[in-house]
Amino acid sequence: MVGSFTTRFAPSPTGRLHKGHAFSAWTAHTAAQAQAGRFLLRIEDIDRARSRPQFEAAIIEDLTWLGLDWAAPIRRQSDHMDDYAQALERLKARGLLYRCFKTRREILEDIGRAPHGPALAYRGAPLAPAEETARLAAGEPFAWRLSLRAARRALGRAAWDALSFVEEGRGPDGQRGVIQARPALAGDAVLARKDADVAYHLAVVVDDAIQGVSHVIRGEDLHEAAHIQRLLQALLEVPSPIYRHHPLLAAPDGKRLAKRDLSETLADIRARGVSASQLKAELGF
Ligand code: GLU
Repeated sequence: MVGSFTTRFAPSPTGRLHKGHAFSAWTAHTAAQAQAGRFLLRIEDIDRARSRPQFEAAIIEDLTWLGLDWAAPIRRQSDHMDDYAQALERLKARGLLYRCFKTRREILEDIGRAPHGPALAYRGAPLAPAEETARLAAGEPFAWRLSLRAARRALGRAAWDALSFVEEGRGPDGQRGVIQARPALAGDAVLARKDADVAYHLAVVVDDAIQGVSHVIRGEDLHEAAHIQRLLQALLEVPSPIYRHHPLLAAPDGKRLAKRDLSETLADIRARGVSASQLKAELGF
């Protein structure tokens, strides 16, 4: 059903849901209802070390309590590793990825030593073949990174400069409309982690395309991610969804949420005897 309004809520089962998640899920769900569209649920569990089946079960329990329903099936990322592997292979075959053996600490040192002053994000290069072979033979772990230089060459200058996405919500400084994509914000992003066969940006882009997501509705803390995700959409030749980044939940006086609000889970709120409709009203729905 590509073409019709389709959005999703994509929590990671690494903990219990809080009010902010409820706000985000209701924002997406309400938007789907308003357009007689689809609301999907995706479980983003590629971080195998931190994901737990009991958190996934709790997410479903919490969303059901909130009164949300979603179009089946639920997409669980760990069930679709082949899809990510295929996307990685396509990018590798075009020479867009390189192996990175660096530790987190080495990366931070490199960023601090960038030629034009400390950089925001890492830019690297493939190792010389002999060194790479030796490190592979020694069994050293590595991540696959997207080479921005190679990506720019592959797309061509005109397509690179024209790369943009539509923001119907709120970017930094309230920016909305057609926004020029600046993939360099993410640097040479990791697309397959040392400890997992895929990384966040690639999984999200592949999933949004496979699930026919027309509108990505999520918190504005992920606005910056749209820049690199837009590049991946272009490289994988999939449609770019419209983005609606929403403001993060704030206290009623507009200030940042208090510690209690940040730490209290939906289960805690439920246990206090608050009903889902009371919470809904409190959050402005
Ligand atoms: N799994 C991400 C999170 O829990 C959301 C990813 C997305 O919406 O693109 O923050």
